[in-house]
Amino acid sequence: MPVYAERHQILVTEPFEHTLDPMVLCFDDGTYWKQTPRGAFLMGIGDPSEAKGNVLTSTWQFLQEMARRAVRHMPKLSGARVVRQWAGTYDITPDSQAVVGPTPVGGLFLNMGWSGHGFQFAPSIGQALAEVVLGVKPFVDISPLYLDRFETGRLIPEPACV
Ligand SMILES: Cc1cc2nc3c(=O)[nH]c(=O)nc-3n(C[C@H](O)[C@H](O)[C@H](O)COP(=O)(O)OP(=O)(O)OC[C@H]3O[C@@H](n4cnc5c(N)ncnc54)[C@H](O)[C@@H]3O)c2cc1C
Repeated sequence: MPVYAERHQILVTEPFEHTLDPMVLCFDDGTYWKQTPRGAFLMGIGDPSEAKGNVLTSTWQFLQEMARRAVRHMPKLSGARVVRQWAGTYDITPDSQAVVGPTPVGGLFLNMGWSGHGFQFAPSIGQALAEVVLGVKPFVDISPLYLDRFETGRLIPEPACV
């Protein structure tokens, strides 16, 4: 399968007074952050220099760099205490788009390679893939995500994978 693991780290701060509703993503430096309903700020960075591999350790370098960028974007976080940090893996494909749909093996369907955005797509892709499995027209055309795009060359490169 054209998919590999890539570590992504994240941290959470102590709670603050509510100031932010949407999740914010900065394409200039690859940082993203969100204030949770209980006030804590959750944040991470897409690091293009991260090596491929199933590594799940947390690093001091991430903590330091994340803190530096967070304070630049939100000066009020200066002095904030970090409650915890952790790491997970993105399942990345060559064009940073998921692989969903049928395979050359009859009865075997894929739903993988979400490249860091699989949580938000889960409800809609679950429905669309179930419709494909049942042989009915899906409510949205998911054929651009089929595995065969790596043979035909019809890749859909996603520039905003952080
Ligand atoms: C730091 C970070 C931030 C993220 N932020 C976002 C975000 O803001 N929005 C968003 O939409 N997505 C985000 N994602 C991505 C999202 O978490 C994934 O795209 C999503 O979880 C993928 O779901 P999945 O079910 O395909 O795989 P997973 O959630 O990885 O589930 C796979 C499961 O299979 C199990 N498994 C593995 N091997 C075997 C085996 N051999 N036998 C049995 N079980 C096995 C694993 O234990 C796991 O439970 C983020 C990911 C990370 C790491």
